[in-house]
Amino acid sequence: MLAVDSQEPRPIPPFVQSFHFPVILQPENLFCEVCQAAARVEVLVASTGAKHAYCDDHYDAPATFVSGDCRIVRSRLLANCAVNRAMAAPESSEEHQRLRRDLCETRHLGELGACRYYLSISTGSNQFTLWSDEFERNAREFVLAETSGAAEFVKQIESWALYLAVPLFKAAYLKVRTGEMPRLSRPEEAVIALLRHPDCSDEQIAERIGTTVKQLRRNGNYSGLRTGMKRAELQ
Ligand SMILES: [Zn+2]
Repeated sequence: MLAVDSQEPRPIPPFVQSFHFPVILQPENLFCEVCQAAARVEVLVASTGAKHAYCDDHYDAPATFVSGDCRIVRSRLLANCAVNRAMAAPESSEEHQRLRRDLCETRHLGELGACRYYLSISTGSNQFTLWSDEFERNAREFVLAETSGAAEFVKQIESWALYLAVPLFKAAYLKVRTGEMPRLSRPEEAVIALLRHPDCSDEQIAERIGTTVKQLRRNGNYSGLRTGMKRAELQ
């Protein structure tokens, strides 16, 4: 198994310096406690609070799983998996472009996959090598920074709703790629308007971007995000 964790920390790319939040670039070093290969999951034993890291071959083996006392708290993709091999290939290569289409157009890994891809290219760092919680932290910090702190609710929002903010990630990606203000669809603009103006009603958002409340409510990302915001407020 490829030891992804043996890499030296890379210098911070200039792209990242232009983002006003501390981007996690490298995954935390964790090795399987059975065989010392790079770990792919970390599990928590609820009764003792102890954490254990395992590779793919060993993570379902420990007896602790039998008791139901054990849960996976985070996971990651290793550097030698198909996704990370394609991410490491030149951006113009067919291998990389096929992955981009799978993630961003076909949405093979859902909104999360598209968010990870867009943030990777925007920051010049492969976000697919990070642990799930590390990427989630980057995603929350990114939304907060890109809305100049307006989307304060993003600190509490559940992760399924966090990734509905994918148009904000796409806009940053397009800005980095073209150097211009990106052209987005009306439904995408609606999501960004909601993130930047979370105190506005649906009527106010509709007026701001020139659409109707009916259209907003048909917009899955917009209405899901609205629901996620309400749930975050109740916490
Ligand atoms: Zn192992």
